[in-house]
This record gives sequence, structure tokens and C-alpha cells, in this order.
Amino acid sequence: MQNLFTASISPLWNNGQPDQGKIDPRQRAWLEVDSAAIQHNARALKTYIGKKCILMAVVKADGYGHGAKTVASAALKGGASCLGVATLQEGIELRECGLICPILILGNLTNIEELGPCLDWDLMPTLSSAREALLCQNIAESRRRKFKVHVKVDTGMTRLGCDFIDAFEFIEVIKSLRNLVLKGIYSHLALADGDVSTDAEAITSLQKQRFESLLNNLQGTKDSICIHFANSSGTLRDSKLHYDMVRVGLALYGYLPRFLHKESLDLKPAMKVKAKVSFVRNVPTNTGVGYGHQFITDKDSRLAVVGIGYADGVSRSLSGRISVLCQEKFVPQVGAIAMDQLVLDISNHPEIKVGDVVTLLGEDGDQKIDPQQWSDISGSIVWEVLCGFKNRLPRLVI
Ligand SMILES: *Cc1c(COP(=O)(O)O)cnc(C)c1O
Repeated sequence: MQNLFTASISPLWNNGQPDQGKIDPRQRAWLEVDSAAIQHNARALKTYIGKKCILMAVVKADGYGHGAKTVASAALKGGASCLGVATLQEGIELRECGLICPILILGNLTNIEELGPCLDWDLMPTLSSAREALLCQNIAESRRRKFKVHVKVDTGMTRLGCDFIDAFEFIEVIKSLRNLVLKGIYSHLALADGDVSTDAEAITSLQKQRFESLLNNLQGTKDSICIHFANSSGTLRDSKLHYDMVRVGLALYGYLPRFLHKESLDLKPAMKVKAKVSFVRNVPTNTGVGYGHQFITDKDSRLAVVGIGYADGVSRSLSGRISVLCQEKFVPQVGAIAMDQLVLDISNHPEIKVGDVVTLLGEDGDQKIDPQQWSDISGSIVWEVLCGFKNRLPRLVI
């Protein structure tokens, strides 16, 4: 039977499709992703780290909510030369859209069902133990191919990676496996937010010292191997942490880890979150608003309903604690943020009307709202705020 509904209606924006560039009147809420800002940030970071150091753009979690394909292409244009993802699927999606640069999977692939496609799609796995190394060797041998791999060494993050004490031996094992090609050796810093407390300094320097002592033992063999250590925080903290490559996520999207503000590095936030006013109403004083009546009006009030909620990425823990921008003015959000909607108190802004565009994150004229403000309020981190915007919100690539 013919589907009468889709027959005559063109679909709303497809996620990550860069060709639209204008707001669909049917769209209640959306993300604007500034691909030129990503490209600019990649270029700024590349200049910052210098010619000899490679920039890996970390585009896991769908490019920190920005759309992995958009971010990957923009970052490569700006001077990144390889990509980092978390999962096999994320890597395959980038290959499917035609990207041919080196791609490293930062997560752990544990079985042949994952490692087979990893080889087929020319993605590089991260190896933390001989177990996975042997799986890779077997797969590659049976296909008469070489498997490019990176070894991860745990220097103090205590997550993935072979213990630094055992790393030398592990690397010897990898080198003895004839179908493996050791492309990289890396470690990961436990301090991402760049807190400058003595603890953070001490932990980072202990991690560096452990990594260095391994590298010293590898003299001679490490020359053809890409050594990498730093995330955004490490990259900005100390150029001695750069080695052959840095793996940059957060800074690529235009945000700096706290306490690591660099005057010399001009980064542009690439994301704006916008939604439209869907309803406006007047209510008398002492009216409970929304689920649980978390807000009760203390005067005759004018309210605006906006079509965006926690299912779109606006955390419920922000309820009643944020303002949004409308017509370049801050307007308070009131009551509990619902799955698909939130309410503004527009008593002081009676000119706001149905269809007006509200900016939840990003700039509106001279004003702006930073995701750091949201993470401070909700007790989260900027990374989580950005990744909170998943597929439900269409992305308008500018
Ligand atoms: C996510 C990730 C990064 C990027 O971290 P940022 O703090 O966003 O720069 C780098 N390396 C590894 C191993 C990661 O998992």
C-alpha cells in the first residue's frame, strides 16, 4: 500500500547534510554547526603545535555532537592529518563517506567479529594486551595482509593500556608478530580539565616520566613509530607532551579545558543550539508551571513555550537555572525542563512571539551562552554537554 504521508511531504533535514544552509520552517529546534570554525580551530592548533607534530582530530561520539563527517572534513582541510574515533562503527562511517586518512580506534576491540572489519576498512586498532595482538595476527595472516596497529600504554590513567612496567616486553611481542605493523605507541593523561592544582601537576609529570622511561628503552626502534600522549589539555599544558602527534578533541570544537586559557590561541566555538517559541500565554499570579509545579508565578506573568527538551540534549538538571537568548536579551527558563519542551518567563519581554528563534547555546548579537556555564550549573563537564546533542536535533551546517 502506498504511504500517503511520505508521498507528498519532503523529509526534514537529514542529519549532517551540509547542503541545506537555511532553516526549514517545519523545524522546531536544531543545531548550527560552523564548519569554518572547525577548520579555523584545526589551523590554529596546527600552527600552535608546529610543523613537526601531527594533529589528530578526535571525532568520536559523532564529533562531540557536531556531526563526525562535517567535523572530520573540516578538520582535515584545516591541517589535521588523521582521525580518532571510539568505536568500530564510527570508523566505518567515516570510511563510507570516502575519507582515506589514517583512522585510529581509541576504544578496545575484543573479538574477531570486530577486528576483521577493522582490518577490512583499514582502521587501526588500539592494542592493550597480547590477547588482542594475537587475534590481529591470526586475522591478518589468514588474509595475507598486514595489520597496522597502535599500542596503548597505561602510565596512570588506569583504563585501557598495557601496564607501563610490562610495555617493553609487550612491544617486543608485537614486533615479533609478522603480520602486525606497529604504527604508534601512546598513552593517555588522566587530567583533562587541566586543573593546575599541585596534584594535577604531579600526576601529569609522573605519567610523563613513566612514558619517557619506556621511550628511552625503545631507542632506535621508535623512530619509525608515531609517539603520542596529549589530549587537548596536554597539548595546551606543555609542548614537551606533544611528541610526534597530539590527539585533540575539545579544543577542535572551540573550547578550552578550564585553567588552560591561552591568549595566543584564538579558538571559535562551532556549535549553536537554537529552538523556536511554539506558544505564548498569560497566566495569573500563583500559577504552577510544568511538571511538579517546580515554578510558581509570583505575579501575573507571560510565558513562552519553546520546543526543545532533555530528549534533545538540554539536561533536566538545568531546570530553572538557565537563561536563553531571544532578540539578543537574556530570558529566564522556569519550571522543570520536559522531554520535548521548556518554558520561559517572558514577563519582561512581552514582544517575544510565536516563531521567534531562541538561542540556548552560542552567540546572539553581542551576548553569548557557553556550554561551560551549563556544565557548571549541572555539575557536568563541557564534553558531556556537547555529546548530549544526538540525532534527534537536526544539524544545520553553516
Ligand atoms: C577522547 C580522547 C581524546 C581527546 O580528548 P579531549 O580532551 O577532548 O581533547 C584524546 N585521546 C583519547 C585516548 C581519547 O579517548
